[in-house]
Amino acid sequence: MPPVEPQQYDYIVLGGGSGGSGSGRRAAGWYGAKTLIVESGRSGGTCVNVGCVPKKMTWNFATVNETLHIAEHYGYTIPKDVKIDYGHFKELRDATVKRLNGAYERNWGREGIDLVHGRARFVEPKVIEVANNDGTKARYNAPHILIATGGRPKLPNIKGAEHGITSDGFFEIEELPPKIAVVGAGYIAVELAGVMGAVGVDTHMFIRGQTFLRKFDPMIQKTMTERYEAAGITVHKGHPGLKEVQLVRDGKGKDKLLKLISNDGSEMEVNEILWAIGRAPEVEDLHLDVPGVKLNDAGFVDVDEYQNSSVDGIYALGDVTGHAELTPVAIAAGRQLGNRLFGPPELKDSKLSYDNIPTVVFSHPEVGTVGLTEPEARERYGDDQIKVYYTKFTAMYYDVVPPEEKKKNPTEFKLICAGPEEKVVGLHILGLGVGEMLQGFGVAVKMGATKRDFDSCVAIHPTSAEELVTLR
Ligand SMILES: Cc1cc2nc3c(=O)[nH]c(=O)nc-3n(C[C@H](O)[C@H](O)[C@H](O)COP(=O)(O)OP(=O)(O)OC[C@H]3O[C@@H](n4cnc5c(N)ncnc54)[C@H](O)[C@@H]3O)c2cc1C
Repeated sequence: MPPVEPQQYDYIVLGGGSGGSGSGRRAAGWYGAKTLIVESGRSGGTCVNVGCVPKKMTWNFATVNETLHIAEHYGYTIPKDVKIDYGHFKELRDATVKRLNGAYERNWGREGIDLVHGRARFVEPKVIEVANNDGTKARYNAPHILIATGGRPKLPNIKGAEHGITSDGFFEIEELPPKIAVVGAGYIAVELAGVMGAVGVDTHMFIRGQTFLRKFDPMIQKTMTERYEAAGITVHKGHPGLKEVQLVRDGKGKDKLLKLISNDGSEMEVNEILWAIGRAPEVEDLHLDVPGVKLNDAGFVDVDEYQNSSVDGIYALGDVTGHAELTPVAIAAGRQLGNRLFGPPELKDSKLSYDNIPTVVFSHPEVGTVGLTEPEARERYGDDQIKVYYTKFTAMYYDVVPPEEKKKNPTEFKLICAGPEEKVVGLHILGLGVGEMLQGFGVAVKMGATKRDFDSCVAIHPTSAEELVTLR
């Protein structure tokens, strides 16, 4: 039976994650565009289900254990055998995620957005077919179609890789593995290894280079790698790579056993291995060849600064484009696109500025960064135009711990200024509480603040943050 006439919309959004939701809500909720969201998985996408939200909750969970450890030094009597019920925590976390799935759908409903659950693909340049989760198929068309299908974690192409887990599988863990290997040096590897280490799991990181977080300022790479080692995480630097994973025993937590075989022949047994080696765009079954949407060399959807793809009326944003893969970036790009397509004439040139995006790594301790790294700034402005302000100290919170432990908990700030006016072009901070510290400084850097502006702001005492406005 031929498919029925496609249902007509003003705007079809493929993917109900951060970017798709942000854009659809702006189009429908603010400007009344007749909007359809097609979502093949759980509403809210990566951030809500297997990203920011469960990750930050797990970071909070791990932070409680770190606090218990410090509490002893403050004079609290903490039993030696504090039990951690990770399964209980997982249930609480799952419930939060479920609540958010519902909140997303309620918001869409309130704003008049239609939602279809199913897998979308192009069947004509402006016609989408959705294989509904109930087995039926339906077609939809619109003059404006947004690809916001995100990405998925990659698995390496080695024998037995499937016996390990990715970040998606990390959020399925019900029982903590006593020993875990984490492969990767990016922020997801560092965050997930950090929480495992902080709750007492024997954690091994495998990295190719000498430091992790390689896209961050060298100060952050060096100090954080040292900090993880000091905290008891074994960082296997210059690792030759794994060639095989063997499943010795299947099960959960301590019952699962894997043998890892490296390219140099060395072997190690662990209870779990987590692959955090990067993410691939979710484009394979969209049939982008039908409209002729071009991908770049890395396989991401090629877009211009207005999120236009190579085909008129088809746009892409968020992780599927590979630009600054962060939730607020996807949301902001989506809202700007909604403004441009459906907003009033004065918004017809709306686009997101991708400069000076502040970002936090929820490592132990946290890292915050906005603007250029020192090598980037030197490259852009020239060495003689750059002045770097730097400080390293220990937060007052650790005043009660023994000196050797104090050393393991550094706070470190770096401000990179350019030109005679000393415009702040890079700000890099690590230490206790920096995750909540960065947003305000992000505003200042975005506004083009100079060192003199920083200095003119009266310090808040006693805080760690005050050091950023008193740097010499
Ligand atoms: C472990 C982890 C931690 C993270 N932590 C942070 C953090 O702390 N802060 C931060 O800002 N960012 C974080 N991120 C990144 C953030 O989650 C992403 O940048 C963000 O979710 C991207 O949004 P998006 O809309 O592009 O894609 P997504 O949120 O991935 O949404 C895409 C949606 O499209 C759906 N889809 C895919 N293909 C189809 C199809 N063919 N038909 C219909 N639907 C389809 C998917 O099911 C998905 O729901 C983290 C990511 C991970 C993996």
